[in-house]
This record gives sequence, structure tokens and C-alpha cells, in this order.
Amino acid sequence: MQKIVIKQAFEQDWIRMFTHLANLFFEQSKIIDEDEEDVISVAFTLDKNADNLLIGKALLTWKGVEYASEFSELEENEDEKIKTRQLKRIYSHILLEALEQATGMQQSWGILTGIRPMKLYHKYRQQGHSTKEAQQLLMDRHRISSEKSELLAKIADVQLRSVPDLHDLKNEVSIYIGIPFCPTKCAYCTFPAYAIHRKNGRVESFLDGLHEEIREMGKWLTERNMAITTIYFGGGTPTSIEAEEMDALYETMYASFPNMENVREITVEAGRPDTITPAKIDVLKKWGIDRISVNPQSYTDETLKAIGRHHSVQETVDKFWLSRNMGMKNINMDLIIGLPNEGIEEFQHSLDETEKMQPESLTVHTLSFKRASEMTRNKDKYKVANRQTVEQMMKLGEQWNAANGYEPYYLYRQKNILGNLENVGYAKPKEESIYNIIIMEEVQTIIGVGCGASSKFIEPTTGKITQFYNPKDPAAYILTFEDAIEKKLAHLDAIFPEAVKK
Ligand code: SF4
Repeated sequence: MQKIVIKQAFEQDWIRMFTHLANLFFEQSKIIDEDEEDVISVAFTLDKNADNLLIGKALLTWKGVEYASEFSELEENEDEKIKTRQLKRIYSHILLEALEQATGMQQSWGILTGIRPMKLYHKYRQQGHSTKEAQQLLMDRHRISSEKSELLAKIADVQLRSVPDLHDLKNEVSIYIGIPFCPTKCAYCTFPAYAIHRKNGRVESFLDGLHEEIREMGKWLTERNMAITTIYFGGGTPTSIEAEEMDALYETMYASFPNMENVREITVEAGRPDTITPAKIDVLKKWGIDRISVNPQSYTDETLKAIGRHHSVQETVDKFWLSRNMGMKNINMDLIIGLPNEGIEEFQHSLDETEKMQPESLTVHTLSFKRASEMTRNKDKYKVANRQTVEQMMKLGEQWNAANGYEPYYLYRQKNILGNLENVGYAKPKEESIYNIIIMEEVQTIIGVGCGASSKFIEPTTGKITQFYNPKDPAAYILTFEDAIEKKLAHLDAIFPEAVKK
């Protein structure tokens, strides 16, 4: 752990901000009060000159060496909130720069520690800035590298080509349906993913609750004739339940939701190849669902074993072709950079194998150490690539995607992600997942039903976001889903007061 002393007193939210920034450089860092051995100490100063230029300076001392940084901006205005935001930005700049000097590491995402940098780019564009100006603002204000700011601009173009009315979808909703079961739990996973065994009736009770939630949400939407933009089945692995159970679920969905003929996209994350069967694909086809994910994560058997996936590489390949040959037209695959014991060679192999299949989209994740995962709890057991190698793999992924006709179309970051990098969804033109764009850019309300489903209610005029979480655990879900239905309907009533009940 790297301890850091800040020589002035700051409020807790500032301390949190400094800690997040320091965590970009050190596995774990802590802001402390007292000078100790090997501590980093930082002193800030802030001045304002006669031209209203705010000049922030940091002097960082570490192992007897001093590193100085400076950043200045014209004072924006007197509004307290805006003023604080600007000051935080200035202090972040100078701390980041001093840490970059001291550690020799460069942060390509600059002072941004949040998960949605795309939103910032869209915001600047919507404020009337040109592409170039928006990119420049990202570089100047947030210290993002020119490479990343170009990537954001490129992604925004693809998103708006794919969903031209992206910023006008506020009065529609999308639906997320969470099925919390998987054949086994992967070591890096913190999703609701309970090993599916059928002895205690838990799956059946969960499904009863889920049908009820779908019916109730459907009733509210039908009474107001609301449009649904997209529907996404995630989890867990939504194909871990039986074919008949999937069939019954889709039947309820079609019977309950209004305007199903206008839904732009329905995705079912088949995810684990070991759950895909001809009978389940038949059910998907019966209901006109042809966008699925078949997720390899890696094409090295030892890696799959190490991360607890319990299926082979061959099974991924077989299930991909089974799905394709049975008529699945839009297949997504996920790869993860930085899985245990994997380096450039293994990742290149994964890309070579993907090349033979040419899925419509490929999401390239960077491994992140989520707090509650098995991998994080037993970190010493898993050997992962260093920052430089992870960056090279990311580059390799970019080049491979470009060479194979894929374009980046959504991007998000996670806490504790290797190399402080990002996850990028690539797709062949016109094959982008609309749901992925909508959820990342937070442009409309997403109603979550089922286990671990988070609902995001976005007030259409102000953009204010309220979140509501269904429990992750099926046992808790079964006990509370009726209450959750009521609460979600109350949120819907509050954000869509104008929607006329027929
Ligand atoms: S398949 Fe996905 S949801 Fe299931 S355990 Fe693995 S990572 Fe988690």
C-alpha cells in the first residue's frame, strides 16, 4: 500500500478523489495524516491573478526527490457548484501530473476515473462544440491523450450512425431481464451467477417471480402505449434454464409488452457455450430472436480451467457454428485481455481463432479485479500480465479489429481494471448492439426485472437518474419481488407523469 500525506486539510469527497487518482498509479493507496517512511507528501497552492486565472501548483516529495507541477484555467464563474468542480479539476491535474513524473507512468485517460468517458464527449457535442473542439476539451480539461480522445470521437460517430435518434429516446424505455444462474462460477465474476441445480425448486420459484414482474411492467407500459426500444436478457446466463422455460418466458414477454413489433433489438446472452443446445436455439428462432452472445473469453484450455469456466475451447467453436448454422444472424463474442498466465501469444491465438468465425461483434474486455470475486480474494494464486503487456494486447486487439472490418462502437471503464485501460465493443458496420449503446450512454430509462437487475430511471426533461436494484440472490428475490414491482411502478409514475393511462 502506498501512503500519501496531503499537507492541507480537505473534505472527505476531496480525499476520495485524491485516493482514486493515486490508485491509478498504485495497487492500493491511502491518504494519511502523519509523515511516515516511504510516504509520498504533497503540498498544493492555489493563486488567482489579476486576469482571473486560477493557478494551481503541487509539490510532491517521494524518496527524497521533489516533483513540481502546475496547471491554470480561467475562473469559470461564481456559482459555488461550478467553482468546486473547477477547483477539483485543477487539483486533479496537478496531482496527476506530479504522480506521472514521480512514477514514470502515463495515464491515457488523464484525470477521468469514472466509467463512462463517452458521456462527456457526447455532452460537449450536444453543447454545440465541433468534433475537434470536443476532443480538445477532453485533452485540455481532463488530460485525456489525443489517441483516446480520437477513439471517443470515432465511437460517437458509429453510435449516431447506428442510432441516429440516440438523444431522442427519452420517452421510450428498454428492458433488462436478469437470469441469475450459470453452470459454474467464473473466478473473476461478481454478477449474480448461482450454480444451477434443480433440487430445491429455487429456479422454478425465481421464474414464477420473473413472469410476474414481466406481466406487471408490461401492464404499466401497455396502459400507456409506451414504446420499448430494446430488450436484453443477461445474468448469469439466460440460456442456463431449460428450453421449455425459455419458451414460456418469451411467451409471457410477447403477451405482456406492448408494441413488440417495433422493438429494435432483442438480445439473449447465451454466454456460456456449455448451455447452448439445438432445442434452445429452436426456441430463440421460434420467437424471432437472432442476436446472441457466445463468449469464449480465451481460446486456451488451461486458461478456461484456471478461471473456472468448465467448458473447452472446442465447445465454444462447436456451439458458435451450431448457432450460426441454425440461423443466428448476429453473434457477439467476448474476449478478456489479461487473464491468468496469458500474454501476447495467447491473446494473438484468441484473435486468430476468432478470425475463423467472424462474429458480427467482438467485445474486448480488460480484466478487472472486482472486489468480491474469487480472483481478487485469492490474488496471489493468479499471475497476470504487467501493465506494458496489457497495453500491447489492447493495441493488438485494436489492430486486429480494424484489419477485420470491425469498428469500435461502445466503451466503458471499470474500477481496478488492468493497466487502467478500458473495455471496447467492436462490431461490423450495422451490427452494433443498440442496447449496449443505450445503457452506456444513459439516454433512456432501463427497467430491470429479475435477479440482480438494476433499473435506471432517467427523468426525460432533467436527465436526473434514480437507480433501483433487485436483489442478486434468488432466495431474496423470491421474497421481495412484489415489493420491487411496486417501487418500480412508483418510479415510472414519477418520471413519466405525462404518460396517459388508457
Ligand atoms: S458465465 Fe458470466 S455470469 Fe456466469 S459466472 Fe461466468 S462471468 Fe459470471
